[in-house]
Amino acid sequence: MVTVTRVSVKSLLSPTKLGTDLVINPYVGCPHACVYCYAADIMRTRRGRCETWGSYLEVKVPRSPIDPAKIFRKSILMSSMTDAYNPYEERSRTTRGILRELLPAQPSLSIITKSALVRRDIDILREFPHACVTFSFSSLDDAFRRRAEPYASSPKDKLAAMEALRCAGIETSVMCAPVFPGITDCTAITDAVSPYVSHIIFDSLNLRRGNAEKILSFVHALRPELKELYSKIFERKEKSYWIMLRAEIKEKCGREGIKNSVFFGHAEERV
Ligand code: SF4
Repeated sequence: MVTVTRVSVKSLLSPTKLGTDLVINPYVGCPHACVYCYAADIMRTRRGRCETWGSYLEVKVPRSPIDPAKIFRKSILMSSMTDAYNPYEERSRTTRGILRELLPAQPSLSIITKSALVRRDIDILREFPHACVTFSFSSLDDAFRRRAEPYASSPKDKLAAMEALRCAGIETSVMCAPVFPGITDCTAITDAVSPYVSHIIFDSLNLRRGNAEKILSFVHALRPELKELYSKIFERKEKSYWIMLRAEIKEKCGREGIKNSVFFGHAEERV
C-alpha cells in the first residue's frame, strides 16, 4: 500500500554532478521498493524520512512552469532519487507531462529506469534531439527480481521495452547494477541486451553503513551458501572476486564489440 500525496516545490530542476547539467526527480520516494536502494538511505539519514521505503510517494507540484529559455539545449537526467516510471506514473502521467513541458527547450535527455512503462512515451521521446533510455538490470532471474525489486518490471518486459524503443529509433543502454556477487550473471545479461545496446555500465553492489545489515540479511536469507563469499568481499575486503569478474566482462564485451564501463570498488575503467 503506497500513500500518495502532493508536495509543492519551487522547481523540478536541480543542478547535479551526475554527468548532466540538471536532474529532475518528479517524485519523492519510489514504490519500486528495491531492497538495496541508496535513495532510501539518503532519505532516512539526511532527510529524516523513517517510513518504510516504497510506502510513500509524493508527487512534486512546481510553483512555476519550466522556462524553456533558461534550459535551452541543456542535458537533463531523469531521475536520481526515484524512478520516473514507477507504477503510480501509469495513471498520474506526471512524467509524461514533464516531458511535454521540456520539449520546447530541446534538451538532451537521459532516463534511467527499471520499468517497461517508459515505452508508453515513445511518441514524445522521439521529438527530443537526443534521448537515451538506460535500463537497469541486477539479474535476468524474475524470481530474484521479485525479491530484490518487488514492484519494478520483469527482465522480460524490460527487454521488450528496449526492443520497442530501438525500433522507434530511440537510443537505449544498460546499467548492469547492482552486481550481486554470486547472483548477478553479467555474461547472461550482456547476451540478452546485446541486440539493443552499444554500451553497458557495470556497477558493483555497494554496502554502506546505512544499508549493509539489511542487504546482507537479504542475501543470507535468500542464498545462505553465499555467506562466506560475502564475508570475503565485504568484511575482509578481498578484491579477487571483482578482479576476476572485471576480466570476464572485458573479455566478453570485447568479443561482442560492446563498449563498457566497469565500476567495481569505486575504480572506474572505460574501454
Ligand atoms: S527504482 Fe531506483 S529509486 Fe526506485 S527503489 Fe529502485 S533503486 Fe531506488
